[in-house]
Amino acid sequence: MKVKATDENIKLAGSIIKKGGLVAFPTETVYGLGADALNSYAVAKIFEVKNRPSFDPLIVHISKIEWLEKLVKKIDARAEKLIRKFWPGPLTLVLLKSNIVPDIVTAGLPTVAVRMPAHPVALALIENAQTPISAPSANPFGYISPTTAEHVEKQLGDKIDLILDGGKCPIGVESTVLSLIDEEPTVLRPGGLPIEEIEKVIGKVKLQRSTDKILSPGQLPKHYAPRTPIKIFSSPDEIKEGDDIGVLLFKKTNREIKAKHVEILSENGDLREAASNLFSALHELDSAGVRIIYAEAIPEVGLGVAIMDRLRKASGQR
Ligand code: AMP
Ligand code: MG
Repeated sequence: MKVKATDENIKLAGSIIKKGGLVAFPTETVYGLGADALNSYAVAKIFEVKNRPSFDPLIVHISKIEWLEKLVKKIDARAEKLIRKFWPGPLTLVLLKSNIVPDIVTAGLPTVAVRMPAHPVALALIENAQTPISAPSANPFGYISPTTAEHVEKQLGDKIDLILDGGKCPIGVESTVLSLIDEEPTVLRPGGLPIEEIEKVIGKVKLQRSTDKILSPGQLPKHYAPRTPIKIFSSPDEIKEGDDIGVLLFKKTNREIKAKHVEILSENGDLREAASNLFSALHELDSAGVRIIYAEAIPEVGLGVAIMDRLRKASGQR
């Protein structure tokens, strides 16, 4: 349902977010598809609705600095200067995440991307929801980013709880994503805030090319992958059991499997729940000190496509 972004409707939208629903809302860049960033099940719905064949880290939107302090480990002097100058606005900062940020929000990475949007409706929505909001652009995979509520309605109208219509987005291009993880600040995605403006505040900034595939020291990984080898199985008979193996199960099984560590993505085989647990389960298995992780193949429908994409990449299969 598309509604005008009145105070009353923003309040309603805030309560939908708080209850784990999805709301599309205007920002100064593009319309976002928002969910409570601290609720991994709600965040999994974002990927389901967007029909993405893979997981990507999401930007967390906040309305006040107090939230940044909770979401990240440390705010350094560079971040402070940039925030003073450019927030609210189209600058996203990548910093080391705190424990309250669910793994699905960062697609398993130890870093989180945060910004404070400069749109009164977005800010009011976050205030009403009383929680940070994760949001990618509100379009299905492969479609262009929406800059009006009508675009969102046409593309996703029947799949989300509410669309807040706040008119046309004034900037219309995505935010600039800047990583402050390394000594050298790095632009991961050019966007609404010009790099020159950033350089005026913190000095020289590196631009990461999308062609930079090889990870040299200091270069930031775009995706999390476990270090332990992964093997995908369809039947438990393919598992070479032992107390030095880890097993990632899609759902509960009656069969006894001898292993050092077992993780179940969803007792009842619910794909949304499985997606919301995927990255934390991989982290658990990766730190369990096992030689190999056997991962159960998942039905490739809905969110299962993105889950299998991640497992295949981690297993070195394409
Ligand atoms: P969108 O949500 O479509 O505006 O895209 C978000 C952008 O931020 C993508 O380019 C992501 O890869 C990037 N991003 C989000 N979180 C992180 C992170 N933790 N580390 C690196 N890049 C990130
Ligand atoms: Mg997008």
